[in-house]
Amino acid sequence: MSDVGYDEVARRILAAGSVTALTGAGVSAASGVPTFRGAGGLWRTFRVEDLAAPDAFARDPALVWEWYDWRRGLIAACRPNRAHEVLAAWSRERPHFSVVTQNVDGLHERAGTLNLTRLHGSIWTLQCWSTCGADDWTDLRTPLEPRPPRCPDCGGIARPGVVWFGELLNPSDLAAADSACTCDVLLVVGTSSVVYPAAGLADIARSRGAFVVEINPEATPAAADLCLRQPAEVALAELAKRIGS
Ligand code: NAD
Ligand code: ZN
Repeated sequence: MSDVGYDEVARRILAAGSVTALTGAGVSAASGVPTFRGAGGLWRTFRVEDLAAPDAFARDPALVWEWYDWRRGLIAACRPNRAHEVLAAWSRERPHFSVVTQNVDGLHERAGTLNLTRLHGSIWTLQCWSTCGADDWTDLRTPLEPRPPRCPDCGGIARPGVVWFGELLNPSDLAAADSACTCDVLLVVGTSSVVYPAAGLADIARSRGAFVVEINPEATPAAADLCLRQPAEVALAELAKRIGS
């Protein structure tokens, strides 16, 4: 592995006043959580866009919940990997270090990450589909019973507390992500950079003067100043050796 890129990224992180990591499904790949666009991205014959969408849920909530219940069971058996651990350690030890994730799996939380913004919600959170006014709630059971699960307040069907295709992000999460993009170094880790608005964050950070580093074994459309073409768990472990943690 070339040391030049690692030395430069380590130097920049050490010199930075603020660092943000924007993460996607790739950080959880080594934990065994499938990405959507890599191998194994399909469930049965369904594309993810045909399951993670309000019209899909309206048409067949039982089918969509079957998919989520399967994913919840799979994720429950996974553990945070070295990539989550390094980011969590930096978030605890380094001032002004934040993590913005598109992941819904809860592995950053389980690794003990501080200053975390979840752009797409959490697969462990449930919401009332008929918006009766009930607060979102956490349900960690796998498998879920009954399925579809019910709203504790009105008894109507519950939905997963994740942001689906075609839905707007929570404005306060988006504002937190935007402010985290005012930083000296942005690490774009394990995201295909095709799902907006998350995909636009690297450009925003760069336009504000951030040095953008992409960590991904595959090339993506992200405009980065430097790319480390290694899996996240390898590259972050390598950086941690140089920086500490
Ligand atoms: P994606 O599936 O579109 O892309 C994954 C990216 O990770 C690819 O670019 C791939 O090259 C890269 N990758 C694969 N293995 C890697 C590794 N070991 N280290 C670093 N990179 C690796 O995922 P996305 O960009 O996050 O966007 C898709 C959407 O899917 C997001 O909205 C997210 O919420 C959702 N999603 C979440 C999870 C999860 O919570 N773990 C899993 C699948 C999809
Ligand atoms: Zn309700």
